[in-house]
Amino acid sequence: MVKVEKDIHWREKELSIKEVIEKYPEVSPFVIIKTDAQRRGVTYTQKALERVDENVHQLVHRGFSGEKNDKTPFSLLLRDGTSVLTGGAAGFGKRDPLVVDVVDDKIVLTDNREVLEEVSYWEKPDFYEKFTSSGEPMWHVAWARPQRIDLNPHQYCQFWNTPGHGCKYCSIAATYKSSDKPQYVNLDDIEETVKEALKQPGRFTSIFLTGGTILSGKELLDDEVDLYINILQRIGKNFGGKRFPSQLIGTAFNRRQLQRIHDETGLMSYTADIEVLNAELFDWICPGKSAKIGYEEWKDRLYQAVDIFGKGYVNTGLVAGVEMAKPKGFISEEESLGKVLEEAEELCRHGVAPVGCVWTVAPGSIFFKQETPSLEYYVRLAKGFDGLRRKYDISVDMDNYRRCGNHPDSDLSRV
Ligand code: SF4
Repeated sequence: MVKVEKDIHWREKELSIKEVIEKYPEVSPFVIIKTDAQRRGVTYTQKALERVDENVHQLVHRGFSGEKNDKTPFSLLLRDGTSVLTGGAAGFGKRDPLVVDVVDDKIVLTDNREVLEEVSYWEKPDFYEKFTSSGEPMWHVAWARPQRIDLNPHQYCQFWNTPGHGCKYCSIAATYKSSDKPQYVNLDDIEETVKEALKQPGRFTSIFLTGGTILSGKELLDDEVDLYINILQRIGKNFGGKRFPSQLIGTAFNRRQLQRIHDETGLMSYTADIEVLNAELFDWICPGKSAKIGYEEWKDRLYQAVDIFGKGYVNTGLVAGVEMAKPKGFISEEESLGKVLEEAEELCRHGVAPVGCVWTVAPGSIFFKQETPSLEYYVRLAKGFDGLRRKYDISVDMDNYRRCGNHPDSDLSRV
Protein backbone atom coordinates (compact mmCIF):
# COMPACT_ATOMS: atom_id res chain seq x y z
CA MET A 1 0.00 0.00 0.00
CA VAL A 2 1.25 3.50 -0.82
CA LYS A 3 2.30 5.30 2.36
CA VAL A 4 1.32 8.91 2.90
CA GLU A 5 3.82 11.01 4.76
CA LYS A 6 2.42 12.46 8.00
CA ASP A 7 2.30 16.22 8.41
CA ILE A 8 4.10 16.68 11.74
CA HIS A 9 2.76 20.24 12.05
CA TRP A 10 -0.94 19.47 11.50
CA ARG A 11 -1.92 20.15 15.12
CA GLU A 12 -0.65 23.73 14.86
CA LYS A 13 -3.01 24.45 11.95
CA GLU A 14 -6.39 23.62 13.50
CA LEU A 15 -8.30 23.45 16.78
CA SER A 16 -7.76 20.29 18.81
CA ILE A 17 -10.65 17.96 19.49
CA LYS A 18 -10.90 19.26 23.08
CA GLU A 19 -10.98 22.86 21.84
CA VAL A 20 -13.74 22.02 19.34
CA ILE A 21 -15.77 20.35 22.12
CA GLU A 22 -15.38 23.48 24.27
CA LYS A 23 -16.24 25.85 21.41
CA TYR A 24 -19.43 24.01 20.42
CA PRO A 25 -21.19 23.11 23.72
CA GLU A 26 -24.48 22.74 21.82
CA VAL A 27 -23.06 19.77 19.88
CA SER A 28 -22.79 16.44 21.70
CA PRO A 29 -19.13 15.61 22.43
CA PHE A 30 -19.94 12.07 21.33
CA VAL A 31 -20.71 13.36 17.83
CA ILE A 32 -17.50 15.40 17.73
CA ILE A 33 -15.39 12.45 18.87
CA LYS A 34 -17.06 10.18 16.32
CA THR A 35 -16.39 12.69 13.56
CA ASP A 36 -12.71 12.96 14.38
CA ALA A 37 -12.32 9.19 14.65
CA GLN A 38 -13.83 8.81 11.18
CA ARG A 39 -11.81 11.71 9.78
CA ARG A 40 -8.42 10.58 11.13
CA GLY A 41 -8.97 6.84 11.53
CA VAL A 42 -7.99 4.83 14.60
CA THR A 43 -5.21 2.42 15.55
CA TYR A 44 -5.02 -0.01 18.47
CA THR A 45 -2.40 -0.58 21.16
CA GLN A 46 -1.42 -4.15 22.03
CA LYS A 47 -3.40 -3.84 25.28
CA ALA A 48 -6.50 -2.81 23.35
CA LEU A 49 -6.10 -5.74 20.96
CA GLU A 50 -5.84 -8.11 23.92
CA ARG A 51 -9.41 -7.09 24.81
CA VAL A 52 -10.69 -8.45 21.51
CA ASP A 53 -12.74 -11.60 21.89
CA GLU A 54 -13.08 -13.39 18.55
CA ASN A 55 -16.19 -15.15 19.82
CA VAL A 56 -17.94 -11.89 20.58
CA HIS A 57 -16.58 -9.05 18.48
CA GLN A 58 -17.03 -8.22 14.81
CA LEU A 59 -13.65 -8.48 13.11
CA VAL A 60 -13.99 -9.74 9.54
CA HIS A 61 -15.75 -7.76 6.86
CA ARG A 62 -16.65 -7.98 3.19
CA GLY A 63 -18.31 -4.96 1.64
CA PHE A 64 -18.19 -3.25 -1.73
CA SER A 65 -15.72 -0.61 -0.57
CA GLY A 66 -13.61 -2.60 1.87
CA GLU A 67 -12.44 -6.06 2.77
CA LYS A 68 -10.92 -7.14 6.07
CA ASN A 69 -9.92 -10.50 7.50
CA ASP A 70 -7.70 -9.72 10.49
CA LYS A 71 -7.99 -9.65 14.29
CA THR A 72 -8.68 -5.95 14.80
CA PRO A 73 -12.17 -4.72 15.73
CA PHE A 74 -14.20 -3.58 12.75
CA SER A 75 -15.63 -0.52 14.46
CA LEU A 76 -16.47 1.17 17.77
CA LEU A 77 -19.43 2.21 19.89
CA LEU A 78 -19.52 5.13 22.32
CA ARG A 79 -21.28 5.06 25.71
CA ASP A 80 -24.46 6.70 24.40
CA GLY A 81 -24.82 4.16 21.58
CA THR A 82 -23.26 6.38 18.92
CA SER A 83 -21.64 4.16 16.31
CA VAL A 84 -18.25 5.08 14.92
CA LEU A 85 -17.65 3.46 11.57
CA THR A 86 -13.88 3.20 11.39
CA GLY A 87 -13.60 0.16 9.12
CA GLY A 88 -10.79 -1.52 11.09
CA ALA A 89 -7.32 -0.36 12.00
CA ALA A 90 -6.37 2.35 9.57
CA GLY A 91 -4.75 5.62 10.43
CA PHE A 92 -4.14 6.74 6.87
CA GLY A 93 -4.03 10.38 5.88
CA LYS A 94 -1.62 13.13 6.88
CA ARG A 95 -2.82 13.48 10.49
CA ASP A 96 -2.12 11.11 13.38
CA PRO A 97 -4.95 8.70 14.01
CA LEU A 98 -6.76 8.44 17.33
CA VAL A 99 -5.51 5.54 19.42
CA VAL A 100 -7.61 2.91 21.18
CA ASP A 101 -5.90 1.92 24.44
CA VAL A 102 -6.69 0.42 27.85
CA VAL A 103 -6.50 2.82 30.81
CA ASP A 104 -7.72 1.99 34.33
CA ASP A 105 -9.03 -1.28 32.97
CA LYS A 106 -11.33 0.47 30.47
CA ILE A 107 -11.05 0.48 26.68
CA VAL A 108 -10.68 4.13 25.73
CA LEU A 109 -10.16 6.36 22.72
CA THR A 110 -7.17 8.65 23.15
CA ASP A 111 -5.67 11.61 21.34
CA ASN A 112 -2.08 12.65 22.00
CA ARG A 113 -2.08 10.23 25.00
CA GLU A 114 -5.05 11.97 26.61
CA VAL A 115 -8.18 9.93 27.25
CA LEU A 116 -11.20 11.19 25.29
CA GLU A 117 -13.93 8.61 25.90
CA GLU A 118 -14.66 5.03 26.83
CA VAL A 119 -15.44 2.83 23.80
CA SER A 120 -16.56 -0.71 23.15
CA TYR A 121 -16.13 -2.95 20.12
CA TRP A 122 -19.03 -3.86 17.83
CA GLU A 123 -20.46 -7.27 18.55
CA LYS A 124 -20.80 -9.63 15.63
CA PRO A 125 -24.27 -10.77 14.70
CA ASP A 126 -25.27 -14.44 15.06
CA PHE A 127 -25.33 -15.03 11.30
CA TYR A 128 -21.58 -14.29 10.88
CA GLU A 129 -20.68 -17.80 12.02
CA LYS A 130 -23.10 -19.53 9.66
CA PHE A 131 -22.93 -20.79 6.08
CA THR A 132 -25.46 -20.75 3.27
CA SER A 133 -26.62 -24.07 1.82
CA SER A 134 -24.23 -23.45 -1.09
CA GLY A 135 -21.37 -23.41 1.44
CA GLU A 136 -20.69 -19.65 1.43
CA PRO A 137 -19.81 -18.03 4.77
CA MET A 138 -22.69 -15.65 5.47
CA TRP A 139 -20.31 -12.80 6.29
CA HIS A 140 -19.28 -12.93 2.62
CA VAL A 141 -22.91 -12.33 1.66
CA ALA A 142 -23.98 -9.58 4.05
CA TRP A 143 -22.34 -7.45 6.69
CA ALA A 144 -23.81 -5.79 9.71
CA ARG A 145 -23.80 -2.60 11.66
CA PRO A 146 -25.16 -2.64 15.21
CA GLN A 147 -28.44 -1.40 13.71
CA ARG A 148 -28.89 -2.99 10.33
CA ILE A 149 -28.13 -5.70 7.77
CA ASP A 150 -26.02 -4.40 4.87
CA LEU A 151 -26.22 -5.94 1.42
CA ASN A 152 -23.83 -4.98 -1.39
CA PRO A 153 -24.98 -7.23 -4.24
CA HIS A 154 -22.78 -5.62 -6.92
CA GLN A 155 -19.21 -5.38 -5.64
CA TYR A 156 -17.78 -3.42 -8.57
CA CYS A 157 -18.86 -0.22 -10.33
CA GLN A 158 -19.17 0.07 -14.09
CA PHE A 159 -18.13 3.72 -14.11
CA TRP A 160 -14.58 2.36 -13.72
CA ASN A 161 -14.88 0.60 -17.11
CA THR A 162 -14.35 3.97 -18.79
CA PRO A 163 -10.92 5.45 -18.02
CA GLY A 164 -11.30 8.57 -15.89
CA HIS A 165 -14.94 7.97 -14.96
CA GLY A 166 -14.55 6.58 -11.41
CA CYS A 167 -15.35 8.92 -8.49
CA LYS A 168 -12.06 10.26 -7.18
CA TYR A 169 -12.62 9.50 -3.46
CA CYS A 170 -13.90 5.96 -4.12
CA SER A 171 -11.99 2.73 -3.48
CA ILE A 172 -14.48 0.24 -4.92
CA ALA A 173 -12.39 -0.65 -7.98
CA ALA A 174 -9.17 -1.09 -5.98
CA THR A 175 -10.98 -3.19 -3.36
CA TYR A 176 -12.54 -5.38 -6.02
CA LYS A 177 -9.31 -5.91 -7.93
CA SER A 178 -7.28 -6.77 -4.82
CA SER A 179 -9.69 -9.48 -3.68
CA ASP A 180 -10.98 -12.69 -5.19
CA LYS A 181 -14.62 -11.99 -4.52
CA PRO A 182 -17.27 -12.42 -7.21
CA GLN A 183 -18.61 -9.31 -8.93
CA TYR A 184 -22.19 -10.23 -8.03
CA VAL A 185 -23.27 -11.83 -4.77
CA ASN A 186 -25.43 -14.90 -5.35
CA LEU A 187 -29.11 -13.99 -4.90
CA ASP A 188 -30.10 -17.29 -3.28
CA ASP A 189 -27.32 -16.73 -0.73
CA ILE A 190 -28.67 -13.23 -0.04
CA GLU A 191 -32.20 -14.50 0.49
CA GLU A 192 -31.01 -17.22 2.84
CA THR A 193 -28.65 -14.95 4.80
CA VAL A 194 -31.25 -12.25 5.42
CA LYS A 195 -33.74 -14.85 6.60
CA GLU A 196 -31.14 -16.20 9.02
CA ALA A 197 -30.04 -12.75 10.23
CA LEU A 198 -33.60 -11.76 11.08
CA LYS A 199 -33.84 -14.65 13.54
CA GLN A 200 -31.64 -12.75 16.01
CA PRO A 201 -33.97 -11.03 18.46
CA GLY A 202 -33.53 -7.31 19.05
CA ARG A 203 -30.55 -6.77 16.77
CA PHE A 204 -31.67 -5.18 13.49
CA THR A 205 -33.98 -2.25 12.78
CA SER A 206 -33.65 -2.25 8.99
CA ILE A 207 -32.16 -3.77 5.86
CA PHE A 208 -29.92 -1.69 3.66
CA LEU A 209 -28.86 -2.22 0.06
CA THR A 210 -26.25 -0.53 -2.03
CA GLY A 211 -23.56 -1.44 -4.52
CA GLY A 212 -21.60 -0.23 -7.46
CA THR A 213 -23.44 1.31 -10.40
CA ILE A 214 -24.64 -1.00 -13.20
CA LEU A 215 -25.00 1.12 -16.31
CA SER A 216 -26.23 -1.62 -18.64
CA GLY A 217 -29.79 -2.47 -19.59
CA LYS A 218 -32.36 -1.67 -22.23
CA GLU A 219 -32.35 1.86 -20.89
CA LEU A 220 -29.40 3.19 -18.84
CA LEU A 221 -29.42 1.59 -15.33
CA ASP A 222 -32.25 -0.87 -16.10
CA ASP A 223 -30.10 -3.84 -15.03
CA GLU A 224 -29.34 -2.17 -11.68
CA VAL A 225 -33.05 -1.54 -11.14
CA ASP A 226 -33.90 -5.16 -12.03
CA LEU A 227 -31.27 -6.46 -9.61
CA TYR A 228 -32.61 -4.43 -6.68
CA ILE A 229 -36.22 -5.30 -7.48
CA ASN A 230 -35.34 -8.99 -7.50
CA ILE A 231 -33.57 -8.78 -4.12
CA LEU A 232 -36.21 -6.59 -2.48
CA GLN A 233 -38.93 -9.02 -3.58
CA ARG A 234 -36.99 -11.96 -2.15
CA ILE A 235 -36.20 -10.38 1.23
CA GLY A 236 -39.61 -8.73 1.46
CA LYS A 237 -41.11 -12.19 1.93
CA ASN A 238 -39.89 -12.03 5.53
CA PHE A 239 -42.34 -9.25 6.36
CA GLY A 240 -46.08 -8.76 6.41
CA GLY A 241 -47.67 -5.61 4.96
CA LYS A 242 -46.68 -3.62 1.91
CA ARG A 243 -43.55 -1.78 3.15
CA PHE A 244 -40.74 -3.10 5.31
CA PRO A 245 -37.92 -1.16 7.04
CA SER A 246 -35.42 -0.76 4.24
CA GLN A 247 -33.22 1.72 2.45
CA LEU A 248 -31.69 1.56 -1.00
CA ILE A 249 -28.80 3.74 -2.08
CA GLY A 250 -28.89 3.36 -5.84
CA THR A 251 -27.76 5.41 -8.77
CA ALA A 252 -30.14 8.26 -9.65
CA PHE A 253 -32.93 6.42 -11.45
CA ASN A 254 -35.44 8.08 -13.75
CA ARG A 255 -39.12 8.43 -12.89
CA ARG A 256 -40.17 5.22 -14.61
CA GLN A 257 -37.47 3.23 -12.83
CA LEU A 258 -38.29 4.78 -9.45
CA GLN A 259 -41.97 4.08 -9.92
CA ARG A 260 -41.22 0.45 -10.72
CA ILE A 261 -39.15 0.02 -7.56
CA HIS A 262 -41.86 1.67 -5.49
CA ASP A 263 -44.72 -0.34 -7.00
CA GLU A 264 -43.05 -3.73 -7.34
CA THR A 265 -41.27 -3.94 -3.97
CA GLY A 266 -41.78 -3.04 -0.29
CA LEU A 267 -38.85 -0.60 -0.26
CA MET A 268 -39.45 2.12 2.32
CA SER A 269 -36.80 4.75 1.54
CA TYR A 270 -34.53 5.73 -1.33
CA THR A 271 -31.23 7.56 -1.58
CA ALA A 272 -29.13 8.56 -4.58
CA ASP A 273 -25.84 10.07 -3.43
CA ILE A 274 -24.98 13.31 -5.21
CA GLU A 275 -21.73 13.28 -3.19
CA VAL A 276 -20.64 16.89 -3.74
CA LEU A 277 -22.87 19.97 -3.70
CA ASN A 278 -21.46 22.04 -6.52
CA ALA A 279 -21.95 21.53 -10.25
CA GLU A 280 -18.34 22.14 -11.34
CA LEU A 281 -16.87 20.07 -8.52
CA PHE A 282 -19.35 17.27 -9.22
CA ASP A 283 -18.12 17.21 -12.84
CA TRP A 284 -14.50 17.00 -11.66
CA ILE A 285 -14.89 14.59 -8.72
CA CYS A 286 -17.64 12.32 -10.08
CA PRO A 287 -16.91 12.37 -13.84
CA GLY A 288 -18.86 9.20 -14.63
CA LYS A 289 -22.00 10.40 -12.87
CA SER A 290 -21.57 13.73 -14.57
CA ALA A 291 -21.19 12.23 -18.07
CA LYS A 292 -24.04 9.73 -17.82
CA ILE A 293 -26.60 11.67 -15.78
CA GLY A 294 -25.36 15.16 -14.94
CA TYR A 295 -25.63 17.34 -11.85
CA GLU A 296 -28.96 19.07 -12.54
CA GLU A 297 -30.58 15.87 -13.76
CA TRP A 298 -29.34 14.07 -10.63
CA LYS A 299 -31.07 16.66 -8.45
CA ASP A 300 -34.20 16.49 -10.56
CA ARG A 301 -34.37 12.72 -10.17
CA LEU A 302 -34.13 13.14 -6.40
CA TYR A 303 -37.07 15.56 -6.50
CA GLN A 304 -39.04 13.04 -8.56
CA ALA A 305 -38.23 10.39 -5.94
CA VAL A 306 -39.87 12.61 -3.29
CA ASP A 307 -43.05 12.61 -5.42
CA ILE A 308 -43.00 8.83 -5.39
CA PHE A 309 -41.65 7.80 -1.95
CA GLY A 310 -42.73 10.89 0.01
CA LYS A 311 -40.96 13.61 1.96
CA GLY A 312 -38.79 12.13 4.72
CA TYR A 313 -38.21 8.96 2.71
CA VAL A 314 -35.69 10.36 0.21
CA ASN A 315 -32.28 11.80 0.93
CA THR A 316 -28.89 12.21 -0.70
CA GLY A 317 -25.48 11.38 0.69
CA LEU A 318 -22.47 13.67 0.52
CA VAL A 319 -18.80 12.88 0.86
CA ALA A 320 -18.52 15.76 3.28
CA GLY A 321 -15.28 17.65 2.93
CA VAL A 322 -14.37 16.42 -0.55
CA GLU A 323 -15.51 19.80 -1.89
CA MET A 324 -12.17 21.06 -0.56
CA ALA A 325 -10.01 18.58 -2.47
CA LYS A 326 -7.09 20.14 -4.31
CA PRO A 327 -6.57 21.68 -6.79
CA LYS A 328 -10.12 22.50 -7.91
CA GLY A 329 -12.01 22.47 -4.60
CA PHE A 330 -12.93 25.44 -2.43
CA ILE A 331 -9.86 26.99 -0.86
CA SER A 332 -11.32 28.46 2.33
CA GLU A 333 -13.52 26.54 4.76
CA GLU A 334 -15.68 29.64 5.17
CA GLU A 335 -16.44 29.87 1.46
CA SER A 336 -17.01 26.14 1.23
CA LEU A 337 -19.52 26.11 4.10
CA GLY A 338 -21.44 28.99 2.56
CA LYS A 339 -21.64 27.43 -0.90
CA VAL A 340 -22.42 23.89 0.26
CA LEU A 341 -25.16 24.96 2.67
CA GLU A 342 -26.71 27.23 0.06
CA GLU A 343 -26.98 24.29 -2.31
CA ALA A 344 -28.17 22.01 0.49
CA GLU A 345 -30.98 24.46 1.17
CA GLU A 346 -32.18 24.14 -2.41
CA LEU A 347 -32.41 20.37 -1.96
CA CYS A 348 -34.31 20.82 1.31
CA ARG A 349 -36.76 23.20 -0.36
CA HIS A 350 -37.65 20.26 -2.62
CA GLY A 351 -37.98 17.87 0.33
CA VAL A 352 -34.63 16.09 -0.10
CA ALA A 353 -32.49 15.83 3.04
CA PRO A 354 -28.72 15.99 2.62
CA VAL A 355 -26.71 13.68 4.90
CA GLY A 356 -22.96 13.83 5.23
CA CYS A 357 -20.44 11.00 5.44
CA VAL A 358 -17.03 12.07 6.71
CA TRP A 359 -14.62 12.01 3.79
CA THR A 360 -11.88 9.48 4.46
CA VAL A 361 -8.85 9.44 2.21
CA ALA A 362 -9.28 5.78 1.40
CA PRO A 363 -6.31 3.70 0.20
CA GLY A 364 -6.85 2.83 -3.43
CA SER A 365 -8.80 6.00 -4.18
CA ILE A 366 -7.47 8.70 -6.52
CA PHE A 367 -7.65 11.20 -3.64
CA PHE A 368 -5.62 8.99 -1.30
CA LYS A 369 -2.94 11.66 -0.76
CA GLN A 370 -5.34 14.53 -0.18
CA GLU A 371 -5.95 16.27 3.14
CA THR A 372 -9.43 16.42 4.65
CA PRO A 373 -10.75 19.67 6.23
CA SER A 374 -10.52 20.57 9.91
CA LEU A 375 -12.67 18.99 12.59
CA GLU A 376 -14.34 22.34 13.19
CA TYR A 377 -15.43 22.43 9.54
CA TYR A 378 -17.19 19.08 9.93
CA VAL A 379 -18.94 20.22 13.11
CA ARG A 380 -20.21 23.38 11.43
CA LEU A 381 -21.34 21.41 8.39
CA ALA A 382 -23.21 18.88 10.53
CA LYS A 383 -24.93 21.72 12.41
CA GLY A 384 -25.83 23.31 9.08
CA PHE A 385 -27.43 20.16 7.63
CA ASP A 386 -29.29 19.46 10.86
CA GLY A 387 -30.53 23.05 11.00
CA LEU A 388 -31.78 22.95 7.41
CA ARG A 389 -33.67 19.70 7.97
CA ARG A 390 -35.36 21.23 10.99
CA LYS A 391 -36.16 24.45 9.09
CA TYR A 392 -37.81 22.52 6.26
CA ASP A 393 -39.34 19.92 8.61
CA ILE A 394 -37.75 16.90 6.92
CA SER A 395 -37.54 13.83 9.12
CA VAL A 396 -34.23 11.99 8.93
CA ASP A 397 -35.48 8.89 10.73
CA MET A 398 -34.67 6.81 7.63
CA ASP A 399 -30.97 7.55 8.19
CA ASN A 400 -30.66 8.33 11.88
CA TYR A 401 -28.53 6.77 14.62
CA ARG A 402 -30.89 3.78 14.95
CA ARG A 403 -31.13 3.02 11.23
CA CYS A 404 -27.66 3.94 9.96
CA GLY A 405 -25.32 5.54 12.49
CA ASN A 406 -22.82 6.88 9.98
CA HIS A 407 -23.76 10.57 9.73
CA PRO A 408 -22.68 13.09 12.38
CA ASP A 409 -25.44 15.46 11.21
CA SER A 410 -28.23 12.92 11.54
CA ASP A 411 -26.89 12.00 15.02
CA LEU A 412 -27.80 15.58 15.95
CA SER A 413 -31.46 14.81 15.27
CA ARG A 414 -31.49 12.77 18.49
CA VAL A 415 -31.61 15.95 20.57
S1 SF4 B 1 -20.72 5.66 -8.37
FE1 SF4 B 1 -18.81 6.59 -7.72
S2 SF4 B 1 -18.82 6.37 -5.46
FE2 SF4 B 1 -20.37 4.97 -6.26
S3 SF4 B 1 -19.28 3.02 -6.46
FE3 SF4 B 1 -19.17 4.04 -8.46
S4 SF4 B 1 -17.23 5.16 -8.44
FE4 SF4 B 1 -17.71 4.59 -6.31
